[in-house]
Amino acid sequence: MVQCRNCGSLDIGSFYSVTNAPVYSVVTVKSKAEALAVPRKDIELAFCSNCGFIFNSLFDVSVDYFTMGYEDQQGFSATFMEYLTRISKALIEKYDLKGKRLLEIGCGKGDFINLLTELTGGQGIGVDPAYIDGRQKNKNVTFYKELFSEDHRKLNPDFICCRHTLEHVHDTRNFMRVISQSISSDQRPIIFFEVPQINRILDVLAFWDIYYEHCSYFNATSMAYLFRNAGFDILDMQLDYSDQYLLVEAVPATGARHMAFPLEESIDVIRERVNQFRDGITTQLNVWRKRLEGFKKNKNKVVVWGGGSKSVGFLTQFADLAMIDYVVDINPNMEGNYIPGIGSRYVQPEFLKEFNPDVVIIMNGIYRNEIVRTMADMGVTPQVFSL
Ligand SMILES: [Zn+2]
Repeated sequence: MVQCRNCGSLDIGSFYSVTNAPVYSVVTVKSKAEALAVPRKDIELAFCSNCGFIFNSLFDVSVDYFTMGYEDQQGFSATFMEYLTRISKALIEKYDLKGKRLLEIGCGKGDFINLLTELTGGQGIGVDPAYIDGRQKNKNVTFYKELFSEDHRKLNPDFICCRHTLEHVHDTRNFMRVISQSISSDQRPIIFFEVPQINRILDVLAFWDIYYEHCSYFNATSMAYLFRNAGFDILDMQLDYSDQYLLVEAVPATGARHMAFPLEESIDVIRERVNQFRDGITTQLNVWRKRLEGFKKNKNKVVVWGGGSKSVGFLTQFADLAMIDYVVDINPNMEGNYIPGIGSRYVQPEFLKEFNPDVVIIMNGIYRNEIVRTMADMGVTPQVFSL
């Protein structure tokens, strides 16, 4: 029987499925054959009528996400770095983080904890089994290449942040319980979480944002439930990055605060969004399929811009058309790698000078201006679509 991992309810209904999704999105794959050999599994998105949580009810927790090489840095984009700097400065100001001890759970390659530490002049700690030694050179930041556990209590942070990690966590209740238990009763660190938010995915029928590595999909309602249930008071909740991200600020609960935030929608409103997605997604997929088939018929050269998970989510749906050989990504560490499960090759932007594509499909519209400018500087002027 399927149980909600966020609240324990059995009142669950499925509404969307993807078959044969590659289980990896951002692992480093060095050949097309290896890319095509990546394991595939099915996704079935389910909706919890108790807490509003949406999750892959078929997620296989035995898939190993920690020992393969990972490339998931976004810090090569000016648009992204501006965002990261803006939210960092806001948090530092709001919670007086100058000179404090800062801990990031799931720090990846350490871009955010490094930036925060630089901006605060404090001490940074990054915890992530997928950190790669030498990626950050700031002597005020210490990295632990391991999973976060209650033992990290000894780190005694003033601020705990966790960006774009919780959506990869299957047992969200237990994850929050571990964080809660890692905080001593005499500590009151500020907690900051950032995740993709599902409302936008549902509203714009963003099938490219649904892929195997993300097993948990949050709205403000399910996020608030999770935090309160784990013993935290929520200080603020907001959307950012063109409403793609949900940001939550919290603190260990004192029992004094029960205010609901405007973003917390009722279960009925969320169910309506889910129903609209279920009713509209087939048309959305068909529109893209017809468009791509048209390009193929006209022998147009099509590339995707923006690697990582969105490109896997997008291309999984059209892998049978076998028409996109290249994916552009500005992360130089991706060059020469292949898209897991799809087999398209990662290339740097300069590649387009020679390749001269007819069509470029941008995986995240927030980067459209940055990308169009980069192409124009190289004299490349294809037809551009952005998701
Ligand atoms: Zn639930």
